[in-house]
Amino acid sequence: MIPPGFVQELLSRVDIADVVGRHVELKRSGANLMGLCPFHAEKSPSFSVSPVKQFYHCFGCGASGDAIRFLTEHLGLSFVEAVRDLAQGAGLTVPEDDASPEERERRDTLRQRRLSATAVLTRAAEFYRGQLRAHPRAIDYLKQRGLTGQVAARFGLGYAPPGWRTLAGVFPNYDDPVLEEAGLVRQREAEGDGGEGSHADGGRYDWFRDRIMFPIRGVAGEVIGFGGRVLDDSKPKYMNSPETPVFSKGRELYGLFEARQALRDKGCALVVEGYMDVVALAQAGFTNAVATLGTACTAEHVQKLFRFTDVVVFSFDGDAAGRRAAARALEAALPHASDLRTCLLYTSDAADERSRVDLGGRRIIKKKKTVRSLRAQHTYSREHYNHQLATNTTSVAQ
Ligand code: ZN
Repeated sequence: MIPPGFVQELLSRVDIADVVGRHVELKRSGANLMGLCPFHAEKSPSFSVSPVKQFYHCFGCGASGDAIRFLTEHLGLSFVEAVRDLAQGAGLTVPEDDASPEERERRDTLRQRRLSATAVLTRAAEFYRGQLRAHPRAIDYLKQRGLTGQVAARFGLGYAPPGWRTLAGVFPNYDDPVLEEAGLVRQREAEGDGGEGSHADGGRYDWFRDRIMFPIRGVAGEVIGFGGRVLDDSKPKYMNSPETPVFSKGRELYGLFEARQALRDKGCALVVEGYMDVVALAQAGFTNAVATLGTACTAEHVQKLFRFTDVVVFSFDGDAAGRRAAARALEAALPHASDLRTCLLYTSDAADERSRVDLGGRRIIKKKKTVRSLRAQHTYSREHYNHQLATNTTSVAQ
């Protein structure tokens, strides 16, 4: 429980113009500031921020509220997360009545560990981005997949070079425990196991080597982990960061940070299976696509998406595995779906990621039409899905 008195004090100490201004370009207009509304698509500004009232209001869509509301609505933070975020910026400590001193200390430690982890991950992402420019083989791979430099930049794509200890050149203290905790390096197994660690000089080596790097970003854009894909057919094809204090694949969605504006503008989320799909779809104009990270879609994923949009469209492969994944996703989504929060399910028939990307335009346009017609023709209620699920799941998935 956060005491209401603290919330009042917090709101009096932050300036909504700063808070909103970090996310929306604002221009002064009389006593207020105006900008393009982040909650609906518009070409001329109808979103106003009043520094006097410490309130925002959109004359187009009616969105309004204070700084906390802005963060919960725009970034999808929970109330408590928004309060913590603002308090941190204002140099205030959130009083937590019910927390014991031990509990508070535990939380502080965890917060420190998170900050250190995102700091090294962000630094690593910059390094990988630079390496992409320096390795024509990696650039060629992305070009061959039909990606432009622009979309690669939007997603901060990078390249992890093949060396075993490349990151030692980035982090002078390669033995720093935070590098392992952030999932950037791993510790060699017990002495003399003769495994891959025997290639490494010393006890540690880089987690990601010779891979295209997809940074996974948290709500504020900070890097919380990576997905890495090989450039050839070697295995494993995809590798994610391990579970860390900042990254949990059961909670995070790839592309959510990049997609959050489009989720509102387009009014729906497109959930696909791979990072490459997300990037390729964004390039084709589907900036509202996100992907789970090598895991089934969980209730937490779905809840997260419903903070931004009322419609979630699942797009999985049409093979048996894809249909199973679709059924699981639907099960996770159902308890959170209502008449307003509609779930649509659509399974593509492309079995392989490569064919989707290579066929580029055509397949994607087909997908666009399907999504449109689905939205236009059907507004399924939760009862409808319960019925479908009970009778025949695969028919929904086709
Ligand atoms: Zn608006």
